[in-house]
Amino acid sequence: MEDLLICNFCGRKKNEITFLISGISGHICNFCIEKTYSIIHRKFLEKKIQNNFTKKQINKPKEIKSFLDKYIIGQNDAKKIVSVAVYNHYKRILQNYSDIVDNNSKEENQKKKNEYIEIEKSNILLIGNTGTGKTLLAKSISKFLKVPFAIADATTLTEAGYVGEDVESILTRLLQSVNYDVNSAEKGIIFLDEIDKISRKSNSPSITRDVSGEGVQQALLKILEGSIINVPPQGGRKHPDQKMIQMNTENILFIAGGTFDGIEKIISDRIRKIPIGFINKEKKEKNNNFLLKNIISTDLKKFGLIPEIIGRFPIITYLNPLDKNMLKKILLEPENALIKQYQKLFDMDNISMSITDEALDVIINNTFQIGLGARGLRTICEKIFMDYIYNIENVHSVLKIDKETVLNKLNYS
Ligand code: ADP
Repeated sequence: MEDLLICNFCGRKKNEITFLISGISGHICNFCIEKTYSIIHRKFLEKKIQNNFTKKQINKPKEIKSFLDKYIIGQNDAKKIVSVAVYNHYKRILQNYSDIVDNNSKEENQKKKNEYIEIEKSNILLIGNTGTGKTLLAKSISKFLKVPFAIADATTLTEAGYVGEDVESILTRLLQSVNYDVNSAEKGIIFLDEIDKISRKSNSPSITRDVSGEGVQQALLKILEGSIINVPPQGGRKHPDQKMIQMNTENILFIAGGTFDGIEKIISDRIRKIPIGFINKEKKEKNNNFLLKNIISTDLKKFGLIPEIIGRFPIITYLNPLDKNMLKKILLEPENALIKQYQKLFDMDNISMSITDEALDVIINNTFQIGLGARGLRTICEKIFMDYIYNIENVHSVLKIDKETVLNKLNYS
């Protein structure tokens, strides 16, 4: 009788299998258990990955842009271009993931392979003066996507074997930001600042090795294109005895930023339309904007980036210099605007702080003169508010900052 038992799922007889587990009204064999387990496991994995990166979670470019609008004043072209690039980047990741999940069934896999279109990585290059919001843009994107973010400074990098940091150390920062969780670091964003400072030192090959310029660019290529990189967990120089962490950079989005001082001249020489120099400041700014709008990869090559590096940044966009109007908006409007932050700080000491429009104009004029973009706002505001905060116990419950106060604090009286 025992020998007549069969698996009610596949029909195998008892003598053909190792185990047969009985249920209330049937039996299941070890083969069927293993098979169902792998189906469940696959579905579970699929769901987990889908949950992490669902299509629903990839917000549409317009939604990304309106999030950026909350934090970044102006820079509409850059915000639009970056929103589209990020949208495509995460769709690309999703395509890769669905391939991994589906690789159990041969037919499906073949179908996928036929359908598969290699979507190019959309690393982004941001060009713009200091303090115009390049870092803020990259940071805001990572905030929106809730992915790890790290800032690396290209000026500290040198070719392996020379004094300075190895290029792999930029990945260390990302790893450290997520406490060495390689999986999540591999989906993060790296902002590579001052990329223009690793330009080739001269257009012709030099006798001495260009270890912080072209050498670094060459070393960066592998990381940017997407490959498995050995990362020193503590950064800095690679020690022979330091255990490396392997990291795949295929899905890391690289956003590079640089001021590219003088690139307008290169663009204008190419276009041969607008001579720069001998024009007033306002006109010059307008022309510079126009020129930057027309930047193409050959201008970057002329500036000193090697063609392979330029090729790794298919998306190039620019940030406008900030005018006084924008500076004022930056001071007041973003969710975490500087004035809102000071008001909050005073509010925590039960002090209601207000500032007059004329006082704001003095701050803006001073910031504009420093020429550090919005970066100067903080310096000026610190000068104004520092003493009040230091003597907070003596400040009345209503604090009004007017033009005279600001002039006084900035030593104009
Ligand atoms: P960059 O990287 O271009 O040198 P940052 O993004 O670091 O400049 O900006 C410096 C500071 O100025 C940041 O604190 C940021 O909040 C502010 N800032 C700069 N540009 C803008 C902008 N367009 N909108 C809002 N804030 C800005």
